[in-house]
Amino acid sequence: MKIFEEIESEVQCYARSFPRVFQRAHQEFLYDQEGREYLDFLAGAGTLNYGHNNSLLKKELLSYIQQDGICHGLDMHTQAKGEFLEVFNSLILKPRNLDYVVQFTGPTGTNAVEAALKLARIVTGRETILAFTNGFHGVSLGALAATGNQHHRGGAGVSLNGVVRVPYDGYMGDDIDTTYYIEKLLNDSSSGVDKPAAMIVETVQGEGGINASSFEWLQRLDRLCKRHDILLIVDDIQAGCGRTGHFFSFEEAGIKPDIVTLSKSISGYGLPMAVVLFRPELDRWKPGEHNGTFRGNNLAFVTAKAAIQHYWSEPGFSKEIRRKGDYISKRLKSIVGKYGEGNFTTRGRGMFQGINCVNGEIANKITKKAFKQNLIIETSGANDHVVKFLCPLTINEINLKRGIDIVENAIKEVCAKEDTIPEDNDYFDEVKVINS
Ligand SMILES: *Cc1c(COP(=O)(O)O)cnc(C)c1O
Repeated sequence: MKIFEEIESEVQCYARSFPRVFQRAHQEFLYDQEGREYLDFLAGAGTLNYGHNNSLLKKELLSYIQQDGICHGLDMHTQAKGEFLEVFNSLILKPRNLDYVVQFTGPTGTNAVEAALKLARIVTGRETILAFTNGFHGVSLGALAATGNQHHRGGAGVSLNGVVRVPYDGYMGDDIDTTYYIEKLLNDSSSGVDKPAAMIVETVQGEGGINASSFEWLQRLDRLCKRHDILLIVDDIQAGCGRTGHFFSFEEAGIKPDIVTLSKSISGYGLPMAVVLFRPELDRWKPGEHNGTFRGNNLAFVTAKAAIQHYWSEPGFSKEIRRKGDYISKRLKSIVGKYGEGNFTTRGRGMFQGINCVNGEIANKITKKAFKQNLIIETSGANDHVVKFLCPLTINEINLKRGIDIVENAIKEVCAKEDTIPEDNDYFDEVKVINS
């Protein structure tokens, strides 16, 4: 289709990695216009934890639409929103002893982050936010200031203020506890770092290369925040909603952040939705101070409620994720052992894992080869050097195995000494034919 080249902005990105025109999707499969089937190990960058067009959620959504249920409701009380809140409170918050209020923001992750940062600044009266190396929090200016990636920061055009960068777990090597450095900065009145309002952290950095922090590090960070009267914000937009094995990615660490952001898979259906959760004492917003026309995407509330009811009312789903996660770990370790020549490593937690290929060119060759075998899988990290496994949590085990087999074969080919690694000319020719 020429129209994309003709009038769609150059800003498009995933479309370049997967140059097909997709038409429909079901569960872990996407289908292009020619009817070809692709196994989806990208899953909307973590937005489709329950698969594409999940049948259970679709049923509820269709019935709601059929009854002329409210679609857009600004931030007015609607039955759909009320029912989402009831279910979220009784099945997610209460059982985890989390006493949070829920703020609906504009329905993107970055807007939830904006709200979280604003609130932390309002509550503490301080400006500085500590954010971590390789952190990704979105690309609107406030959130972008907290994002590490230079490629994204370069698009700002204004100075990105109010954030001080500190090293994430493992950044200085495995034996160095980076919380020691952070604490030193905070204790030293001449460190040059003003007392922060908050720190914002991902428990597993998604876009930053599937860097998983240890539970002990998170616990030390949590204690450090308490000692210094700094708010702890966990950005659970990608790692949350079950990705690491539990609804919230910080549960296993036993910490209770002051503020939590959720978006990507919270609606469960790929519908736009975002929330910020925080301790009731922090609720210092004035009415409408942070607003947004699409805070009331009620279709998302319907599927969000259904997703929580179907998947999170008992522990079976969480166990299933961890079982599949163990399988992924086992397979990736074995692949790295067989073909990585001591350079590749595995990383991540639950169904949020990756293979660090060290070199972005190699990682890209692997994902390109995988795409030729109809597997959609992306890279992440500063140099796109990590092959990122992000399939739907609900994936059937045969397809999980199949996807990993495809990556294994791709790695085997790319790493084979005798492999001349064709310049993928045939691939681009093929793409041209399809685009014409
Ligand atoms: C994707 C993501 C965001 C930004 O969400 P958008 O909906 O793209 O604005 C923020 N934080 C994390 C951890 C993310 O993965």
